[in-house]
Order: sequence, then structure tokens, then C-alpha cells
Amino acid sequence: RQTKWFVFWIRYDLRVTLSERLETIPPMNTNWTPDSWQTRIAQQQPVYNDQAAVADVISTLGQLPPLVTAWEVDRLQKQLADAAAGKAFVLQGGDCSESFADCNSTTILRKLKVLIQMSLVLICGSKQRVVRVGRIAGQYAKPRSANTETREGVELPSYRGDIINRSGFTKDEREPNPQLMLRAYERSALTINYIRALSEGGFADLHHPENWDLEFVRNTPGSRKYQQLLESLSDSIRFMEVVSANELDQLSRVDFFTSHEGLHLLHEQALTRQDQRQNGFYNLSTHMPWIGDRTRAIDGAHVEYFRGIKNPIGVKVGNTIAGDELIDLVKVLNPENAPGRLTLIHRFGAEKIAGRLPMLINAVQQSNLNVLWSCDPMHGNTQATRNGYKTRSFDEITSEILTAFRIHKECDSRLSGIHLELTGEDVTECVGGPANLTESDLHRDYRSQVDPRLNYEQAMEIAFLLSEEMK
Ligand code: PEP
Ligand code: MN
Repeated sequence: RQTKWFVFWIRYDLRVTLSERLETIPPMNTNWTPDSWQTRIAQQQPVYNDQAAVADVISTLGQLPPLVTAWEVDRLQKQLADAAAGKAFVLQGGDCSESFADCNSTTILRKLKVLIQMSLVLICGSKQRVVRVGRIAGQYAKPRSANTETREGVELPSYRGDIINRSGFTKDEREPNPQLMLRAYERSALTINYIRALSEGGFADLHHPENWDLEFVRNTPGSRKYQQLLESLSDSIRFMEVVSANELDQLSRVDFFTSHEGLHLLHEQALTRQDQRQNGFYNLSTHMPWIGDRTRAIDGAHVEYFRGIKNPIGVKVGNTIAGDELIDLVKVLNPENAPGRLTLIHRFGAEKIAGRLPMLINAVQQSNLNVLWSCDPMHGNTQATRNGYKTRSFDEITSEILTAFRIHKECDSRLSGIHLELTGEDVTECVGGPANLTESDLHRDYRSQVDPRLNYEQAMEIAFLLSEEMK
């Protein structure tokens, strides 16, 4: 009789343990392939009419050369591991949504200039290396809160980014067009080609910071602060050259990596390639793809795709995630607990961050998981103005950043990166900042097709704020 009870108890215990596990962790298909995500529910995907045309484009993309190499991707992961260990800081930034029209020399150059200038300010403040990652050369697909948009009684599909459809409000422009995937691939290739040429050659030479000046910002208070910083930097460079001649080579180029939201899975799959050295698969359309806050369901298609690629990846973490959900997600996406592999980009909003972040940091610490924490102070602070613009307040953005630093410090954790939507142009999309833009200024130069970006001056001011915080 005792044996019978014992067997019953074991079976009961197993059942409970199993069902508990099943509730939290969905069974993972261990046989990952670049298309195994297709067995899961994929949120936020375009609905194409012509399936034969889609298949054709995917097959063409699969033959085209990759945009980045696995060696570069591995190098980024190493640098991210250093950042997570407190030896570097990650600056990730760029447009909410790149547009095909902005694939021109001036706009790309200005984006690169603002990111390089910001990184110099951060280096001076933190006395650490800065890892530069652009939201660039592929940031073309956008998640939307509604599938359709209605204007004056006319309902059309929502604009989902230039890789899917066009932003104009006509039936033709809003129809998802598979050919746009090829156009996006070409724009990404042109953009990355230009970035590479600039960051390898004379442009990125630290001896000539005047190359990064933006013509429209001379003599603003921010630019004077930046000029002063450059003068002291030039002294340090001259000093270093005297001390160590072999540093010279490194000073004549800057590292620059690319990233985008890996939202459009067919497209990401087509640019996923097997690596000869390790037998793993890399997404070679970008160095660091990330999963958006809306598509991070643990049993969803995006998590399935991302768990199998070798790139360092990011996940946006918003207000709806619970501590145990985050732990399960981290374990699925980084089963080997590899440093630098996973960046958690938190985005709660200035009001909510204090109520959410400590609990998530504690959960990660209790499970001994290696993650890199980055703060996106943009996406929790979006509001609509009375006259219909989407905007963000500079003060709320800075408040979320300062709270994030404070909380990480209090929890004995480290904020190792920042994730910003910004541009090198003089746009009027976010309110506040050095020029104290108000809602009534927004119409002057509002260009973003999706979310409001920091303009050049606002972005530099954030860099100075971060640099002060890290001193
Ligand atoms: C974005 O980064 O543009 C975005 C949509 O962010 P999130 O996934 O955090 O909402
Ligand atoms: Mn955005």
C-alpha cells in the first residue's frame, strides 16, 4: 500500500511540476531553422495580395550578398559584453522610421555627425569607450496600433514603413507592395556603403573633428560647450600621440554598427545566412536586430526567429511585462547566458519607470542572468497635441533618463546604454530643450512619418546630461 501511495505522489508531483512549467514556458521547438517562426503566430506582419510576387522577392533577396559580416557582428557582441561589464557605454540612436527619401548624402552625413559628436561628449564624461549603434541602414518596418486608418470617412491600411507601403493616403500607396523589400535592401546597402566609407577614411579621423561640425548650429550655447570640449580633447590626443605612437591608427577611424527592429520576418529570414566558421545562422542584414515591445510574446514568431540567430539582439521591455515573464524570455533568448548577447531596452515613461524597473532588475539579478540594460526614454513618453501632432517632452525624456540611472545605482545594477530617436536635422518634433520649443512651434519643421525625434540641439543636450551623470 505504501508503494502505491508513493507512486501516486510521484505521479501527482510530476504532473503539477509539468503543468506549472507548461503554463510559463511554452514548448520550444529545438529544431530551429530560419523559417521555424512560421509555425507560430506572427504579429504586425503585412498582408500581401500577390503571394507569387512575395515568393519571388524573398528568393531574390536570398541570393543577394549580405549587408554586414559575421566577424563584425561578433565584434559588436564582444563590445556589448564589455559594456555590460562596466567597461563601455552603448549609444544607440537614429530615426523612428527611416524613409527612402532620406537616403541621401546630407541626411546620412548629419545622422552620423550627431552620433559621433554625442559619442565624444560621452567619452569625455564617462572616460569609457562608447559603442555606436545607429538605428540606420534598415530601420524601415514599423509596428502600428491599428491595422487601418480612417480619414474623412475613408478607411485604408495603416502605413507600416517604407519597406511595406507608402505613407500617402491613397489606396494605391497604402497597398503592401513586396517590391519595396528590394528597394529597402538597396537603400540599406547604399546607406551602409556610405557609412563604411566615411568611418574608414579621413572623415572619422579624430585629428579633424571639424569634419563633424554641422553648419546650422555654430554659436548656439550647446555648440560652444562642444567646441570647448573639442579643444581639451585635441590636447589629449596630442598627448597620447607622444606617449603611444601605435594608438595612431585607431584614432583615424571610428567603429559604427547598424541596428533595426527585426519586425518583418520574411525579410529577416531572407537575409539570414549560415556562417562557415561556427555552423550557426546570422542575420546579416544588420549587426544588432531587436524585438519590439509589441512582438515579444514568448510563444510568438518573433521570439522563435530571434532565439536561433547568433547576432547580439535587443528586446524592448515596456510596462506590461511581469518579472517571471521577463525571466522566461531572457532564458529562451539567451539559453547559454552569454554576456553581450542580450540587451534589455526598457521604455516605461517618466511617470511609470519607478514603479516597474526595480522589480525587473531584481528578478534578473535573482536568476543570475547576464543582460545589458539600456534605457529608451522616448517610447513611454509619447503624447498627442491638441492640433494632432505626436510629440515628446524634453523634460520627461531627461526625467526618465535620470530616474533610470538612480534606480540602477540603488539596485546595485548598471545602466550601460541609451536608446534614442534622433536626427542630425533641425526639426521641430519634440517640445522643450535648449530652444524651448512649444506645441505651436511643431508645425514649422515636423518631418517624421511616425514618432517624434530629438533634433540636433536636443540630442547634444542629452549627451551632455548623460556625460554629467556618468562623471
Ligand atoms: C520603436 O522603437 O520605434 C518602437 C516601436 O518601440 P517599442 O517597440 O518600444 O514600442
Ligand atoms: Mn518609434
